[in-house]
Amino acid sequence: MRIITIIGARPQFIKAAIVSYAIRQHNAQSSIQIEERILHTGQHYDYNMSQVFFDQMQIPAPTWHLACNDQTVEQMRDAIVPIIDQHADYILLYGDTNSTLAGALAATQCNIPIIHIEAGLRSFNPQMAEEHNRIETDKRSTLLFCPTYTAVANLQREGITKGIYMVGDVMYDASLLFTEQASKTSDILSRLNLTPRQYLLATIHRAETTCDAEKVANILRAFAQMPYPIILPLHPRTRKVVAASEVLTDLAHADNIHIIESVSYVDMQWLEEQAICILTDSGGVQKEAYFHRVPCITMREETEWVETIETGWNTLVGADTQKIVSAFQNLSIPSTIITEYGDGKASTKIIKILCQNAY
Ligand code: UDP
Repeated sequence: MRIITIIGARPQFIKAAIVSYAIRQHNAQSSIQIEERILHTGQHYDYNMSQVFFDQMQIPAPTWHLACNDQTVEQMRDAIVPIIDQHADYILLYGDTNSTLAGALAATQCNIPIIHIEAGLRSFNPQMAEEHNRIETDKRSTLLFCPTYTAVANLQREGITKGIYMVGDVMYDASLLFTEQASKTSDILSRLNLTPRQYLLATIHRAETTCDAEKVANILRAFAQMPYPIILPLHPRTRKVVAASEVLTDLAHADNIHIIESVSYVDMQWLEEQAICILTDSGGVQKEAYFHRVPCITMREETEWVETIETGWNTLVGADTQKIVSAFQNLSIPSTIITEYGDGKASTKIIKILCQNAY
């Protein structure tokens, strides 16, 4: 079975790392061999946003590396088509980025079945490009691997009935494996001169946040009121927005805000594990906060990960200064456990189901 994995953005490298690892483990034990090759669209290209994950998480080197960082979905699709047309029996896609949709459109054009990992997630915010990407990818997919029961129900509501599998969250598999590694190898706390449980960790990168300078300003104003240092590994998109505005640059200079470069996945797991609280607009980081049993404040109006809200581990506050500050003042550590993310074996389950369906 020849699979081409199409990836292009940071969260996809992380998910692909753990699934590639499961593929290698499967190949070592089975007569059914999966030949996986990677196509990197080039959507993310900085060392800190791309190559560091390949190096640290042992993702196989891409066979094809396109330079599609500034391209439209259609341009990416056109670059992908001639490659997969010759070399793939299946296309493996992750999540909801433009690379995901470009891969889905290319696979449909070449009549190659699509495996979608992290299928069925919905924010119900039609303004988000990611929401459009997910819906269009799910429609075209043959095997849909869902991380939650809510995701399964979302697909069923959209009339998708075949090929749906609830397997748990591959990001939980990745977090378990690499947090264990981080506990032995990461020196990020000493490099940043941090004391465990004496700092907050934040990320800001989503287009809905960064496209509005006032939202970024509101968030930075809230950060400045926090009674702890805030570590902010800054996404290149947000860095550009802050640098382009004098007001934002001044706000970002508050004494307790420490802007650093994006960090490696292993260091990120260790920063999350030791934080008092995580503030974010990231999908993945919200869940990772729960994986580390750290309360999360999500600076968005809605989330795809509704179980984190229902159990009290996560609070939605939008980009509202006062709401962010009062969510921090009212932080609590719930006792409820979320079982649906699984037991760290979602990737192994996916490979097993794939082999049953492919032969
Ligand atoms: N991440 C990382 N280094 C950083 C910031 C985030 O490794 O400096 C990881 C984080 O642990 C999570 C993933 O990137 O696994 C989330 O990606 P991102 O926030 O870019 O995208 P989203 O999850 O919102 O799609």
